[in-house]
Amino acid sequence: MPSIADNLNRERKKIEQTLQRCGRTASEVTLVAVTKTHPVEVVEEALRLGIRHIGENKVQEALRKIPLLSVPPQGFHFIGHLQSNKINNLLSLNPLLIHSVDSLHIARELNRSLGRKNLIQDILVQVNTTAETSKSGVSLANAEEMIWQIAALPCLRVRGLMTIGLMSIDAERTRPYFRQLRELFDQLSRQNIPGVELKHLSMGMSDDFEVALEEGSNMLRLGSALFGQRTPGGAQ
Ligand SMILES: *Cc1c(COP(=O)(O)O)cnc(C)c1O
Repeated sequence: MPSIADNLNRERKKIEQTLQRCGRTASEVTLVAVTKTHPVEVVEEALRLGIRHIGENKVQEALRKIPLLSVPPQGFHFIGHLQSNKINNLLSLNPLLIHSVDSLHIARELNRSLGRKNLIQDILVQVNTTAETSKSGVSLANAEEMIWQIAALPCLRVRGLMTIGLMSIDAERTRPYFRQLRELFDQLSRQNIPGVELKHLSMGMSDDFEVALEEGSNMLRLGSALFGQRTPGGAQ
């Protein structure tokens, strides 16, 4: 079985080659290693190998694992659906970025908790570009209006957009959705919305990151490509 080091080298190479083809450089792209379901030792190993950003999708799991790390990651990213009753626990972990603000309701709840703690939080708005009912996120049609509303919340800083591609063996099928998110990103950037500083376009996972990079992604979330397949309900 290839080691995490082997995986990381291989995927980094693919990222560099793809960017080179697009006339872009690796320094433009943030790699978030998604460590969900993997034990603390795996997270430690990734950090030893130079990974700086890690992503988790469940507050309870993150709450258990993050404090056990001997050296905290430069960035802890929360990438899962957030429930109101988990907000305070999440904030206690000091997330660098919450990728998954998927409704005005959760944005308001988050803003309220942050206000009580005197904190400002960088967030991404999750857009359900593929309109699959299994996924959270605001629709493409409603994204702009929701971002204007979130922009008015003083403790949240909208730093970009996030989406999840189709579950498909053919990444090309997701290309149009990545492109639509990129277009929305550019369109919103031109509006200069007060309180919104768009910087991150978080799209691309293990099976579709090359297409995502070609469509302008600058933040990848890679799990299985680095750590192998996850066993459902496995190592927590
Ligand atoms: C699990 C997960 C990933 C990583 O998925 P892989 O296909 O294993 O790379 C990325 N983003 C989100 C939101 C996830 O939940």
